[in-house]
Amino acid sequence: MQDRNAPLENGTTTSTPTAGGQEERFAHLLEAVRRRITKQQFTTWFQRTTLVTWRGADLVIGVPNLFYQQWFQRHFRGMLAEVAGELAASTVQVSFSLEPAGPRAGVSDPAALEPVRNVPPATGAEAPAAGVHAVGALTPIAPTPFHGTGSGDRPLLLGQHYTFENFIVGPSNHMAYASARAVAQEPGRAYNPLFIHGPVGLGKTHLLHAVCHEFLSRCPSERVCFLSCEEFINEFLLALKLNDVDRFRQRFRDVHLLVIDDIHFLAGKERTQEEFFHLFNRLYQQHRQIVISSDAAPSEIPTLEDRLVSRFKWGLVANLEQPEMETRMAILRRKAELQGVEVPADVVELIAANFRSNIREIEGALLSVVARSRITQAPIDLALAQQALAPSLHRARPAITMDQILERVAAHYQVKPSDLRSKKRTRLISLARQVVMVLARRLTPLSLGEIGQHFGGRDHTTVLYGISKVETAMEANPRFQAEINRLADRLA
Ligand code: ADP
Ligand code: MG
Repeated sequence: MQDRNAPLENGTTTSTPTAGGQEERFAHLLEAVRRRITKQQFTTWFQRTTLVTWRGADLVIGVPNLFYQQWFQRHFRGMLAEVAGELAASTVQVSFSLEPAGPRAGVSDPAALEPVRNVPPATGAEAPAAGVHAVGALTPIAPTPFHGTGSGDRPLLLGQHYTFENFIVGPSNHMAYASARAVAQEPGRAYNPLFIHGPVGLGKTHLLHAVCHEFLSRCPSERVCFLSCEEFINEFLLALKLNDVDRFRQRFRDVHLLVIDDIHFLAGKERTQEEFFHLFNRLYQQHRQIVISSDAAPSEIPTLEDRLVSRFKWGLVANLEQPEMETRMAILRRKAELQGVEVPADVVELIAANFRSNIREIEGALLSVVARSRITQAPIDLALAQQALAPSLHRARPAITMDQILERVAAHYQVKPSDLRSKKRTRLISLARQVVMVLARRLTPLSLGEIGQHFGGRDHTTVLYGISKVETAMEANPRFQAEINRLADRLA
């Protein structure tokens, strides 16, 4: 590494005081950048940057938060490498580290240097905290009566927007989507039962409603029964109490499609499990379609009887995973469209980058932004979104530790965490170690030197080298890039 930097070291780090030379070069860099982009872009993005280090071919720029870091990686890295390369007359590797902006940025207006974190929190009324909104928060997603046939004496309630058309498909949910669709098109034949599981807020209920919508549009006269598991339990217990179990059973007699949401609530309810078991068998023998959702795979639901677990596995078990960045962005665009609001791309990215694990929270964030725009009568832009989301963006996230990263990466490459800390240099271990470095850089506020400490005191140039190797490989290989992004997503 040092060798190829040699020509550069002369004019800067050796013959002039290190910091001064770097700072001056960085100021020139900012000047050159300023000429290349719009004033607004420069103010939004570059006023908060700092110089961390520019030694030889490695330029590390400090940015105030994770969102900036991802944005810079994606949008400015190429341009910065080019401009820096011109200034240095040699190749420069640019990376971004999380640093609250300080006075070193060379920007005269101190207010502009305030880290984003310090944006005053908006009041609750103006910006409802993201994540507190129920399904119906983004009107009119709230369930509205559907004209289809409900079983028994009640109308069937389906969310009108919970359709397949409004379900954004990505690698994380493709399997569940495709099987749900197949089931709606060939009920009782494609997969029976269909069991969809995944953590809260990832679209289980949406898919279940979509199955009903599509089924009813094909077979409007057939009977559909959609129940939450709690409803099933309560109604059964009531029937027991009223000594009216026959009528309870009657309800399901001619049902062609039975959909039960959140079946994990059956855990520990022995009598109801028994009842459900018999209902399942009856419908199954008649080739009626059964669709079930749960927050866990069948065998992972505690105290679910084995015979039910095995029934659930007869058909197809599909799971929903955390959606990737692209899918989250597409979902946001669709939700905005359903709301009839225009949301600029950078705002979509801001939300998608910061809310990862639960689509309901993503919707809540969008709603906060829309609400703020309506109240202040200002158009939706990045600054407005940052203000609207300030309370939730800066709610302290549990910090990601080096140990967590080491463990996750070690498990991914099937090596031991202790191997990563050791001096071993097999290809796989070296690769895994470099991946840890990249993730640590992205997800923790640790400096390069501090990261090196976790690998038997390797110095910061080794860490930089590791990072740039992985990043180059990521650029060359989209599959590798997706793999690393997935690892990062799971950790964050
Ligand atoms: P779950 O039942 O798994 O807790 P929901 O089905 O209630 O989750 O989904 C929460 C919200 O996220 C709903 O508003 C739903 O429309 C939305 N959502 C989840 N996944 C998607 C997706 N892939 N495309 C569009 N909207 C989605
Ligand atoms: Mg649900």
